[in-house]
Amino acid sequence: SKPVVAIVGRPNVGKSTLFNVLAGEMISIVKDTPGVTRDRIYADVSWLDQDFTLIDTGGIEPESSDIILSQMREQAQIAIDTADVIIFITDVRQGLVDADSKVADMLRRARKPVILAVNKVDNFDKFMPDVYEFYNLGIGDPNPVSASSRLGIGDLLDAVVSYF
Ligand code: GDP
Ligand code: MG
Repeated sequence: SKPVVAIVGRPNVGKSTLFNVLAGEMISIVKDTPGVTRDRIYADVSWLDQDFTLIDTGGIEPESSDIILSQMREQAQIAIDTADVIIFITDVRQGLVDADSKVADMLRRARKPVILAVNKVDNFDKFMPDVYEFYNLGIGDPNPVSASSRLGIGDLLDAVVSYF
């Protein structure tokens, strides 16, 4: 059966936007509205003749910081249990935050391939200096992307399929 790729990350980093770009359609709801969004969303994706199933683990996401971390842990656990490759997405505008580090620790211990995507790098010249701090997560090279401007997507997908 096809490899499974799961997207994990904090609320509002752009998981659903990236999912829609990779899926080539508007499937996942950006800016999730409680009561409308399903828990997990799946799409079939092809890249360079490689087919895989993509999961947006986001769904309905909390606003309060104490719930955010527990829900991120749940999402990361779903990814660890079901995915062959995990895309861990962070937000260059918000920078590296504690919840990112905690989830990165969890993913590292799981010993699954993790691709680190640093999103909202809408202008590479302007934001690249801020991308380097994400090396501190200890899960490999940060891949700068802009989901909304569709920048860095090809390189990100190359990195994903290299693990199949
Ligand atoms: P999710 O909660 O992680 O699923 O994040 P969403 O995909 O719903 O996106 C949250 C917000 O970030 C929305 O307003 C998006 O339009 C915005 N966003 C997503 N990707 C980018 C990006 O590459 N650059 C910028 N500037 N905004 C983005
Ligand atoms: Mg979402």
